[in-house]
Amino acid sequence: MDVPYAVYLHIPFCRHRCAYCDFNTYAGQEDSLSSYVQALCNEIQAVGAGVSLPVRVGSIFFGGGTPSLLTSAHFRDIFQSLYRAFEILPDAEISMEANPGTVTLAALEQLRALGMNRLSFGVQSANPNELRLLERIHDYSDVVNAVLWARRAGFDNLNLDLMYGLPEQTLADWQKTVNLVTGLDPQHFSAYALTLEHGTPFGRWASRGLMPTPDPDLAAEMAEWVRDFWAEQGYEHYEISNWAKINDGFKMQNEKFDSSFRIYYSAFVCRHNLQYWRNLPYFGLGAGAHGYAGGVRYSNVLRIKTYIERVRAGGAAVRWPLTAAAVNQIPIHRETEMDETMMTGLRLVQEGVADAAFTARFGVSLREMYGREIDELLGFGLVEWKTSGDSGVLRLTRRGWLLGNQVFMRFLRGY
Ligand code: SF4
Repeated sequence: MDVPYAVYLHIPFCRHRCAYCDFNTYAGQEDSLSSYVQALCNEIQAVGAGVSLPVRVGSIFFGGGTPSLLTSAHFRDIFQSLYRAFEILPDAEISMEANPGTVTLAALEQLRALGMNRLSFGVQSANPNELRLLERIHDYSDVVNAVLWARRAGFDNLNLDLMYGLPEQTLADWQKTVNLVTGLDPQHFSAYALTLEHGTPFGRWASRGLMPTPDPDLAAEMAEWVRDFWAEQGYEHYEISNWAKINDGFKMQNEKFDSSFRIYYSAFVCRHNLQYWRNLPYFGLGAGAHGYAGGVRYSNVLRIKTYIERVRAGGAAVRWPLTAAAVNQIPIHRETEMDETMMTGLRLVQEGVADAAFTARFGVSLREMYGREIDELLGFGLVEWKTSGDSGVLRLTRRGWLLGNQVFMRFLRGY
């Protein structure tokens, strides 16, 4: 399948580390920002120079960390490197994660002028007590301003990230947050249940009994409620934790036909993340970034200073598209690629995994490869077959949406 690549750029700087966060990000290292951006530009160029043919890129995602801590001069340098190294498609989705407490109208206008066309704001909650508990640096008025400024700057594709299942959060608290943020009318929502990660302050407090652990049944109730609520509000639930606007009185204008996967989608699905869920290749650039390309999954060194040093030193050519920053690589053989295609593809609750697309990609049908696993999951009522065009599509049932991990682990054979 001739699909364009996706590019993920990791910006591992934050003003403050939130108590629940286990991402590779650092507070108090902003003095390294400029040398980090220089190293990132060099890494982009190293990947671009590693192949003779131009590499087509359909999406770029600045994640973190807090990419909105970069200046517009930093972004200009990165964009120049990207356009020099790759063939960026004219309709490429170019997204940035932003902390609502770190944006200004002027900065957003400059980003829009550079070609950024999608913003993802880490809102998490509209409740001041919950934001304080999460140790977020913003309050809800920052969110309202950020959305207004983004629109004024010309962004018409906004995502708001939310969290539920927080300690002591009630269903009514969650409903209040969702009602408020839905009133901001974004094109997309992501909503994730809080997980207490080992090694974070939340993880330590919960294990010592200093913080109540979230109630999984209540979190499931919150997930069920928001799914129905956003459906009523015209958002399509297309991935376990993601919704895109599809219907606000001009449905067809908001839908696009994806010819490779023969499915209609809201124009506002996150195309970059679709690349992950369809198990298609992406470059991971920056400290701690993960990539999957050239038949290899790989990851870069975590620490900012080591990343800068390694990229600066360059060194012996490694397998494309890995650079001197890479510290781990795992070759992905055909069977593992099939398993991963099942695990990530089934997250797409509408698209699922189409038998025709799977057979075209791997030369073997879903039934031939996973007949036993599929029968078992059908028996539990966790997956179902639906017909789309001339192909059978395997996808999660409503019950499967909530118990996704029990489905995905059936395909973990090669791990
Ligand atoms: S702003 Fe985001 S990336 Fe930074 S510490 Fe908080 S949750 Fe983690």
